Amino acid sequence: MVELENVGAPRVSGDLVGRRPAYFESLARSIRDPAELLRRLDLSDELLPAAVRGATEFPLLIPEDYLKRMSPGDPLDPLLRQVLPLDEEFARAEGFVDDPVGDSAARQVDGLISKYPGRVLLVLTGSCAVHCRYCFRRHYPYESEPRQPRDWELALETIRRDSTIHEVILSGGDPLMLTDTRLAEFLAAIEEIPHLNRLRIHSRLPIVLPDRVTDELIAMLSKTRLTPIVVVHANHPNEIAGACSDSLGRLVRSGITTLNQAVLLKGVNDSAQSLIELSERLIDLGVMPYYLHQLDRVRGAAHFEVSESTGRKLVAQMRSKLPGYAVPQYVREIAGEASKTPLF
Ligand SMILES: *Cc1c(COP(=O)(O)O)cnc(C)c1O
Ligand code: SF4
Repeated sequence: MVELENVGAPRVSGDLVGRRPAYFESLARSIRDPAELLRRLDLSDELLPAAVRGATEFPLLIPEDYLKRMSPGDPLDPLLRQVLPLDEEFARAEGFVDDPVGDSAARQVDGLISKYPGRVLLVLTGSCAVHCRYCFRRHYPYESEPRQPRDWELALETIRRDSTIHEVILSGGDPLMLTDTRLAEFLAAIEEIPHLNRLRIHSRLPIVLPDRVTDELIAMLSKTRLTPIVVVHANHPNEIAGACSDSLGRLVRSGITTLNQAVLLKGVNDSAQSLIELSERLIDLGVMPYYLHQLDRVRGAAHFEVSESTGRKLVAQMRSKLPGYAVPQYVREIAGEASKTPLF
């Protein structure tokens, strides 16, 4: 699904004037080889055949900083589980399909997904810094999405013509895989659209590759006329550690509204304790829990599914222990609905 030459190596031609940002080096050091992953974490070679096989369908990709937050020797580590291909990915499961949320049908023009009133989602790139095995976009046809600023023109024109759109959501892949220079060009184009008020960025990079939160990025978001909202994606409290905490803190202290969305995942965060601790770590940094998503039923991810009844019990336990603002909305996405559907 992802342009391989692009994974972990943003195109640099014409993109960069002068120095390479430090996070380029971090991207280049990412782990792509299943054997290396097992070696680095002191894990048994028994995991290798499945990891190699899974990686042929959806390549393995893990930033080193994220790997450092995993416990060596523990095949059940909740961060490892999110990124390690298992044989279960190939098990056939009823109802698990390639495009579970109807993205293809909602694609107005290349790169633009419009499902909900008032806001549109732009797929700026197919690249991510990490490959999450449960990702609902693991089979998405990213090859057909725009890659160059001129390719966005059709999507921009669609937004210009529809004055009911007030918010643009940059998504992907991961929109922060674009360089700050590219993002600035894009921002300049959308700032000129008078009916737009808000810019939302959905990104996992502040979590998995914290040095992507550059001073340039913060400055760009601080000075745009649009109200910036950054939605990060962390699923387990162990993700909110070290440099990741620093980067989230910097976003929040710059006055940028920062929210988190998590996916409820078996073997990762399907316990009240881990969900509560995740919320506590986030709010202690000023990041507001936004959504807890029921897993989208994408082919290859059935082993991550937690039942809705279990999900409701977990959220009830969160509610009994946490202040109201620390309890995310438990939702699922149903193709064709006008918003995410609350489950509790
Ligand atoms: C989830 C989603 C959004 C954002 O929904 P909010 O409820 O506003 O967070 C927008 N567009 C698409 C296509 C989505 O899937
Ligand atoms: S970072 Fe987001 S889009 Fe990328 S693989 Fe993970 S869940 Fe999917």
